Amino acid sequence: MPHGTRANPPAFDLILFGGTGDLAMRKLLPALYRRFADGLVSADARIIGVARSTLSDQEYAARAEAACRLYLGADFQDAVWANFGPLLSYVRVDANATTDYQRLAGRLAGRDALVRLFFLSTGPDLFAAICRDLAAANIVNANSRIMLEKPLGEDAASASRINDTVGAMVSERQIYRIDHYLGKETVQNLMALRFGNALFEPLWRRGQISNVQITVAEQLGVEKRAEFFDRTGTLRDMVQNHLLQLMCILAMEPPATNAADAVRDEKLKVLRALRPIGDAEALLKTARGQYRAGIVGTSKAVAYVEEAGIDPASRTETFVAIKAEIDTWRWAGVPFYLRTGKRLPQHVAEIVVTFEHVPHSIFTGRFNSEPPNRLVIRLQPDECITLRILAKSPGEAMRLKPVDLALDLGESFKARPLEAYERLLGDAIAGNLTLFMRRDEVEAAWNWIDPIRAAWDADDDGPRPYAAGSWGPATSSALIARDGFAWNDDL
Ligand code: NAP
Repeated sequence: MPHGTRANPPAFDLILFGGTGDLAMRKLLPALYRRFADGLVSADARIIGVARSTLSDQEYAARAEAACRLYLGADFQDAVWANFGPLLSYVRVDANATTDYQRLAGRLAGRDALVRLFFLSTGPDLFAAICRDLAAANIVNANSRIMLEKPLGEDAASASRINDTVGAMVSERQIYRIDHYLGKETVQNLMALRFGNALFEPLWRRGQISNVQITVAEQLGVEKRAEFFDRTGTLRDMVQNHLLQLMCILAMEPPATNAADAVRDEKLKVLRALRPIGDAEALLKTARGQYRAGIVGTSKAVAYVEEAGIDPASRTETFVAIKAEIDTWRWAGVPFYLRTGKRLPQHVAEIVVTFEHVPHSIFTGRFNSEPPNRLVIRLQPDECITLRILAKSPGEAMRLKPVDLALDLGESFKARPLEAYERLLGDAIAGNLTLFMRRDEVEAAWNWIDPIRAAWDADDDGPRPYAAGSWGPATSSALIARDGFAWNDDL
């Protein structure tokens, strides 16, 4: 179903560094195809794949077609491809070879007036060379935008270096740092829920909310990213970006407008108000684990250290739980529990906002335990919002039972939700920065993460074991139990 088909979508040049890579083939090209199918890509747009391999334009388009067929499944249509395919071309550039950029300059010549979007879908070790040589080849102009994939550094210092490098070439308003979670439909809905309805705002604070849980659980192990993941670990790979960004949207003050900096200013305030977790608290307020062999769903899984490409002595964490505290008037005393890991029982991303108990119960008696209200926002695999309330169950006794008011967004709107990269590419082409992270946000997030990492590195015990297919190490349940709560594993 088309999404706001525009009569005249603007022409652009999208230069896809890493254009032959996994991300480009699995996510970016299918997302561009979908936008084209929805009438949102100009027939005068160009998508230029860039990598070291020697490929003709036709060979590149053939690879892209095979990938789109595979990943779009029944949504792929030959008739659409017949018009989309010709927008694709390829330029061979070794990012480290300065002279190769002249080929790209030649391809871009004469189109300076159009939006020129460079998507750097390569490892971050190439960002500096790419930025330096793009600038030297005079390819970057006022209409240029740079999209950067994670990881944006591995600590505050390296993130700052990347930001300096890119910032030397273009201004901050030309830099689009991706956290693809921000492009998810339900995350947008979180904004709609909080700021489009009067209902929630009076309740969205201490005194009304007892705790918030954010769970991003994967059933998968390290798959093809063994080398990268073993260097990185879950704290840097997932918490620094995705979980903290979700927390920011949940916890930020209402921005004055939906404009990029109004929203990003408010998110930044949340990050800056996070109570630091230093050495002394790290073992109490965080839990880290590494999976051992086990059963996930119905499949056997080997231990992390037995996965191909993983150092058998690795101490890299595959699970993290953290109690985050936001030192503001709104959130003082309300814990935000963050939890994410690999080889967990389900593939699910979910936010659970638990409200306080009623201050005084009139329905006392053996039938009623009266669990508090709960708002559950599910981001994946399906996108839905559920509010648990208590109601009287039919019958003679005054017996209260929890029931769910459930909003299935797909069902309600009968429309295909946009894939995150469809939205993010569309926003970058349109020049809308709202869903992209600003430099200060990224660095503030690292500033909170770095001391936790340092405390872990100094802890001889390393990550605690958990069986693949379980909800993480015992230290994770102990962390939340100390506050009198339990993880919502009823996902
Ligand atoms: P990948 O499959 O290894 O692809 C890397 C791409 O970079 C290939 O197109 C490769 O092509 C190109 N490349 C490598 N060295 C180059 C050089 N010197 N000059 C020019 N091109 C070069 O990696 P990926 O999975 O697509 O990931 C790309 C980036 O996105 C990484 O930083 C990754 O962490 C991040 N990311 C990936 C995903 C994902 O789902 N895959 C998700 C989030 C973030 P040639 O070998 O032909 O040069």
